[in-house]
Amino acid sequence: MKTIPDLVEHALELIRLTSTKLPDDIVSALKSGRKKETTGSAAEATLVTIETNIEMASEMSTPICQDTGTPLFYVKHPWDYPTRMMREAFTSAVQIATEKNYLRPNAVDSVTGKNSGDNTGDHFPAIYFDQWDRDDEIEVRLMLKGGGSENQGAQYSLPYGPLDAGRDMDGVRKVILDQVVNAQGQGCGPAVLGVCIGGDRASGYALAKKQSIRPLEDVNPDPVLADLEKEITEKGNHLGIGPMGFGGETTLLGTKITKAHRVPASFFVSIIYMCWAARQKTMTFKNGEVSYD
Ligand code: SF4
Repeated sequence: MKTIPDLVEHALELIRLTSTKLPDDIVSALKSGRKKETTGSAAEATLVTIETNIEMASEMSTPICQDTGTPLFYVKHPWDYPTRMMREAFTSAVQIATEKNYLRPNAVDSVTGKNSGDNTGDHFPAIYFDQWDRDDEIEVRLMLKGGGSENQGAQYSLPYGPLDAGRDMDGVRKVILDQVVNAQGQGCGPAVLGVCIGGDRASGYALAKKQSIRPLEDVNPDPVLADLEKEITEKGNHLGIGPMGFGGETTLLGTKITKAHRVPASFFVSIIYMCWAARQKTMTFKNGEVSYD
């Protein structure tokens, strides 16, 4: 079995970068949104404040938001790297990052209410492994998922009577846009939506969350889903909700959708709402080198 030298230190740097610098695609989308808002509007002022916040966090290497969220690691690795070794290293890196204030202590025992103080606990941080065929290349994608936006995730079971949403694509459209309206003023928009059509309750949410870490410029290889992604983003931005729910045109930065087979008896649509602080970064180990993107 192989090991990765200095994995804890590299993972610590991944956490620092993720917590303090937003991805370029999100920053560009926020800037484009600000330019579209009416001069002097609350929407424009909100986006200016968000941009200032992002710049200051990057310059001072401090967290972009006081809620540093749930750390979620998505790891792709060759067969001969032990996952236990990686899990231990990422957990140690999270503990050190908490000591260094890159992360706020966020892990609370769900029964006793006690904060562990170091961001670790039962299933915390969350770490997901996928084996791939590449030799000696490991990709670690970290997402820091804010609690306020996580609360705005939703799962609909079609047919859904209150919206007259049936088990078809029109029903899917209705429930996704319904959740955008429900999240108004609560999930720290503008948002990126991750959606899964189908699956079971657990796989639907897991797949939807993975969608929310796709780069904004990524085009869905499925042309039907690519069109739906575009349509939902456009329609969402015409709802008048705007940044933080203050009104305006910048409600969604993007929509990313996947699908999963389902049993005939169930038709779930799972929606993950990612706030403007869409903190995610990738660390890659290749040919003995480490890089961050
Ligand atoms: S939802 Fe996002 S922006 Fe709002 S407080 Fe939480 S992490 Fe921060």
